[in-house]
Amino acid sequence: MTIVKPSDALIHKTTHLMQEGMNARAFGEYEMPEALGDARWTDELILSTWYMAETGEVPDDMNFKTGKSDGGFDRLRFRFLAEGEWLDHSEDIDTSLPLNRRDDGKNEIEIDIPWYGGGMSYGSVSINVMMSRAKTAKLWNTFMSTGEGGYPTELYEVKENIITQVATGYFGVEEETIQAAPIVELKYAQGAKPGLGGHLLAAKAGEEVAKIRGSVPFVSLFSPFPFHSTYSVEDHSKHLDWIEIINPTALLAVKVSTPHDVDMVAVGSYYAGAHIIHMDGGYGGTGAAPEIAKKNIAMPIELAIPKVHKFLQKEGVRDEVTLIASGGVRTADDIAKAIALGADGCVLGTTDLVGMGCTRCANCEGGPSGRGCPWGLTTTDIELQEWLQQDWGVKRLDNLYTAMQWRLRDILRKLGLNSVQELTGRTDLLRYIGKEDGE
Ligand code: SF4
Repeated sequence: MTIVKPSDALIHKTTHLMQEGMNARAFGEYEMPEALGDARWTDELILSTWYMAETGEVPDDMNFKTGKSDGGFDRLRFRFLAEGEWLDHSEDIDTSLPLNRRDDGKNEIEIDIPWYGGGMSYGSVSINVMMSRAKTAKLWNTFMSTGEGGYPTELYEVKENIITQVATGYFGVEEETIQAAPIVELKYAQGAKPGLGGHLLAAKAGEEVAKIRGSVPFVSLFSPFPFHSTYSVEDHSKHLDWIEIINPTALLAVKVSTPHDVDMVAVGSYYAGAHIIHMDGGYGGTGAAPEIAKKNIAMPIELAIPKVHKFLQKEGVRDEVTLIASGGVRTADDIAKAIALGADGCVLGTTDLVGMGCTRCANCEGGPSGRGCPWGLTTTDIELQEWLQQDWGVKRLDNLYTAMQWRLRDILRKLGLNSVQELTGRTDLLRYIGKEDGE
């Protein structure tokens, strides 16, 4: 079969038309679609995210803060001060977050916003999506994790902002890519599918993907669960030692799901030497994660955060580790709520995809065509991936992050806080909204 690559002119024309249509919907020029979104990512939340990604501002007339899931972040609100007590400035409210709290001579890293991009591997997403996220991470002095798909050479141009992920399949793990990274992340599990490992369908594992992963083209790739070399905290400690020998200054991040004993896992990770404990709750995952697993196995992140935060406090080590939350964190309001519950910061994945046009249609694994995402996001199809050009992707994410940082500062100002770090663990600033409240 001969594959004909579309001309640049055709790509630009069609990309432009598609993006215009998407923006028209975000700006309300078309009626609200009937079949967009779900209870967590409602039609309004998707459209408002597109609006922010297009304009860099929050919308006046759409809910850009919460979904309608009837639980978790969607039932939490802030206890704002009376309007007269709000801080009258917001631009200089500090949103930075230090990632190394161990004072151990390793990289001293501070990010400008309390979130970074979670791992979405090359293969699960296109190179254009990966580079759009990576370049945005550089622009915002934050990070993006490679996910478990290896380290495409293009990433070296922004290597100071890339986290190299080492996961259970060891796909694409090389000394060189561990040495290049300021932070190395050991992924033990994903909140959307704990205990299930990963699966990249053969159709998405084409020539380039296979080359980087050290596999054979168009063969399904499975990441097992768990690491077959780790069954105890001592084994885990050896894993971290192994990374430390290859890259003595890298910060060590550990990504875990949220089983009922996640507090024990977190404290064990701390004693093994981790700088960052990244907990991934049960509501995360793209449309590739099996529906039966999502939401039904791991604990919701809203419950896991305070459990771990308090346990680390009791152990007397909370101030020496950075606690990062993901798995259902969608908006600036969710980020602030996660921090008030006890996290230091968050990881975003789906939000980035929605900012770049994701409609939450759940066809990431192939869809009716078998070619992956029709918007060119979670695909490696030679034609589909051209729908999303890097300069456009960076612009969308830059705008979205601008609006999100504005909203985060708006929340802090209304709480009377001068820094996002002052918000950590302030559950007293949250309140639960019951159904009887009519919201
Ligand atoms: S297939 Fe594309 S648009 Fe649909 S959920 Fe996946 S990333 Fe989003």
